[in-house]
Amino acid sequence: MREKLVDRFNRIHDYLRISVTDKCNLRCVYCMPEEGMEFEPDERLLSFGEIAEVVRVLAGMGVRKLRLTGGEPMLRKDLDRLVAMLSAIPGIEDIALTTNGIFFAPKAEKLKAAGLTRVNISLDSLRADRFALITRGGDIKKVLAAVDAALRVGLDPIKLNVVLMKGINDDEIEDFLAMTFDRKLNIRFIEYMPIGHDDEGWKTKYLSLNTVFERAASRGWEVEPASGITGNGPAENHRLKGAQGTFGLIHPVSDHFCETCNRLRLTADGNVKPCLYWSDEFNVRSRIGDDQAVRDLFFRALDIKPENHEMALALDSANQSHTPTVRRMSQIGG
Ligand code: SAM
Ligand code: SF4
Repeated sequence: MREKLVDRFNRIHDYLRISVTDKCNLRCVYCMPEEGMEFEPDERLLSFGEIAEVVRVLAGMGVRKLRLTGGEPMLRKDLDRLVAMLSAIPGIEDIALTTNGIFFAPKAEKLKAAGLTRVNISLDSLRADRFALITRGGDIKKVLAAVDAALRVGLDPIKLNVVLMKGINDDEIEDFLAMTFDRKLNIRFIEYMPIGHDDEGWKTKYLSLNTVFERAASRGWEVEPASGITGNGPAENHRLKGAQGTFGLIHPVSDHFCETCNRLRLTADGNVKPCLYWSDEFNVRSRIGDDQAVRDLFFRALDIKPENHEMALALDSANQSHTPTVRRMSQIGG
């Protein structure tokens, strides 16, 4: 009998990304429009009990790592209660959070005590005015406080997600790199992805991550490979010589990381997505309570998981819908 989450290309899936809400307190320019977003009513979101049920079944199929994301996951009231429920599930070894950081600092200790192991904080600029422009109103002080709180309570590693955009924040690459000299942070430079929106703006702002090496070299900083950073699926990691922290490059557009993809996604309204980019998804909510039905649904999702996403490139596989997702990043969970 089929038990483990292995797909047609022999990729073993041990990682589930869970979007706990599609709502957000910010409106980052690359993620959401300023106005007109429609959100799921609260009663359509999976409850903590439903999420834990799905995770329990998946833990029996080999899932070991979870990431809570969104939308903004800290908008779910008492998120630490969900973390505690998930960390009590046998087999779950690692629970990470991706957050914009605005509401994180006052809750850091409770989350850590509940079993949170790691955090990624999104921070696309170190300049208050620019940060407010990119996020359409975010207060950088709260995000910097989140980084301090994460360091203080001992979450490790702490990653900062930086989406690089030409002409918007690419002049800050050196400032982000310099942060790693005396702080144990992992800066993750992420290529701007054309997910769920019209791609004209994307094309003009897209920047290859090789720029990061060019900027390091222009400062005379030597770069060496870094290893041993937990949970770094698609990121290659590097260190500036002499630095405490590290930096990673995530380039889904120019060099897809699909060969080693070990992740499945659960949307806030209870759909399983085998691939970030394509529209295929399967509703699990009605099956919760019937473990075999949940397992079968995940197998169906895995069976159509494409070999790669060919993001922004030609479509070449016969097995997926051939329709890029209409969901925005905030609805899938990044
Ligand atoms: N609200 C949380 C946050 O911002 O960290 C979690 C959800 S957010 C969708 C997850 C990650 O996706 C963030 O680091 C964000 O920068 C990234 N993201 C959103 N839209 C993106 C895009 N078009 N290209 C690249 N990364 C994107
Ligand atoms: Fe919200 Fe995160 Fe999207 Fe920014 S990137 S709008 S913080 S969900």
